[in-house]
Amino acid sequence: MIIAIDGEASTGKSTQAKKIAKKLNINYRDSGAYYRAITLYLIKNQINSKETIGNDLFSKIDISQKFENESLFIFLNGENVTSKIRGHKVSVNVSEYAKKPEIRNFVYKLLRKSSELTSIVVDGRDIGTVVFPDADYKFFLYAIPEIRAKRRHKEINDESVKIESIAREIKERDDTDSNRDIAPLKKAEDAHGIDVSYLTIDQVFEEILQKIII
Ligand code: C5P
Repeated sequence: MIIAIDGEASTGKSTQAKKIAKKLNINYRDSGAYYRAITLYLIKNQINSKETIGNDLFSKIDISQKFENESLFIFLNGENVTSKIRGHKVSVNVSEYAKKPEIRNFVYKLLRKSSELTSIVVDGRDIGTVVFPDADYKFFLYAIPEIRAKRRHKEINDESVKIESIAREIKERDDTDSNRDIAPLKKAEDAHGIDVSYLTIDQVFEEILQKIII
C-alpha cells in the first residue's frame, strides 16, 4: 500500500504522515528531507543551483532515512543531519535545487526503492502526481498562509525569528514550487483535499484515516 500526502509548506504533512505510519504500522519517507539533505551537501561543497550535477557527484551522496518510534532520522554520508537540514540556509535554497531534473530523478529512485518491499506513507509536493501516480490513497493539505506562518513560528520557538520573515520564506518556497516546469506543487485530480486552516492535528488525522479503508 502506498499513501501520498502532498501539500503546501507548513501544513503539517509530516506530522500526519508519521501518525498514519504509526497507526498502520507501515514505513514513512519524507521526500522534502531528501531534497534538503542534497541541498545541504551541495551548499557545503560550494556547488550552486545553476550547475549541472553529474553521476560522479551523485555517487558521493548517500542519504538514508530511519523511522523509529514516530521520529524520523536523516543521515547524509553517515552523519545525522536531522536538525541541520531544517536550518535557514537550506530552507531558503532548497526550492532552487529541487527544480533540477537530475536531483528530482535521484530522489524519485530513492523513494520508489523504499516502496518496493513495504507499505509506505510518503509526504511531499508531487508524490500523488508524479512519483506514485497509482498510489492507493492521496491527500492534499492546504491552509491560509498567515495561519501556516503562525504555526511554523510557534514550532521554531525562537523570539528572535520574526513571523514576517517566516511568512516570506514560506510564500517564496510555495511560489517557486508551484511555478516550476517539472513536477510542480499541485493537487492530483484524484487526491482528497483538506483545508487544515481551522482543524486540529487530530481532526486532520481522523479525516485522513476515515478515507483509508483497511
Ligand atoms: O517538505 P519540505 O518543506 O521539507 O520540502 C522542502 C522543499 O523540498 C520544498 O519547498 C520543495 O522545494 C522541495 N520538495 C519538492 N518535492 C517534494 C518534496 C519537497 O520539490 N516532493
